[in-house]
Amino acid sequence: MVSTVVVLGVPFSSASESEVLADCMNYMQDETPHFVITAGPEFVMKVGEDEKLRRILHQADLITPDGIGIVIASRWYGQPLTERVTGVDLAQKLILHAEEQGMRVFVLGASEDSLQRALATIRELHPTIHIAGRNGYFKHAEVSDVIAAIRKEAPHLLLVGLGQPAQEKFIADHLQEMGIPLSIGVGGAIDVLGGTVKRAPVVFQKAKLEWLYRLLREPSRVRRQVALPRFALAAWIEAKSQVRGRSTS
Ligand code: UDP
Repeated sequence: MVSTVVVLGVPFSSASESEVLADCMNYMQDETPHFVITAGPEFVMKVGEDEKLRRILHQADLITPDGIGIVIASRWYGQPLTERVTGVDLAQKLILHAEEQGMRVFVLGASEDSLQRALATIRELHPTIHIAGRNGYFKHAEVSDVIAAIRKEAPHLLLVGLGQPAQEKFIADHLQEMGIPLSIGVGGAIDVLGGTVKRAPVVFQKAKLEWLYRLLREPSRVRRQVALPRFALAAWIEAKSQVRGRSTS
């Protein structure tokens, strides 16, 4: 059992990306359904305000730190996480694994245009992949059709990009009914895979400034990114009080 670092109530796996990938590959060949959450600071702040989301955390097999903010915060707690493990990276690497193993993949989410671009790109890069998808804009009344479409494909891996926390709620609500070995919430990864949204250039990634790049490209994200300083302050206060508690006990 891999250890966790609890940041504001969210238990992050301290596994490295390669360890997470190894776990995911095992899950993909299991008969029971597994569920992985990729969570950044915005998600952590949503957990604080959402009772249902807090319950969902216990259903997940793994919660990975998808954001440099989580990795930095883990150091304040004196329990540094190894590295970021993002939804986009997991998706890309597990798609390759699925192709190599002859396993099926289903992609649920994004607009129809973005989804089709992502599927086309994936098929180009992985000519023998078994992959299908459905866009992420459906009404509540259509959920059973969406589930039926997924079950018909019987995927080993389900990538869900409906935005957080809708994607985690969708997976948790239908985990047993869908019976898929591994479901992962991947946020905007489908848009990135299809090129609808560009991933930050490597220089931004290396400088851990992907958030800044996204903000510059999409200034409308500023409202959402207000969660970042709120997260930093809350985590810093929690970490300091825990560290103080440890040193006085
Ligand atoms: N999305 C969707 N259905 C919805 C709302 C959003 O499929 O009802 C998709 C959206 O098109 C995008 C993804 O969910 O591809 C989430 O993107 P966003 O950047 O908002 O999410 P984050 O990664 O920040 O959670």
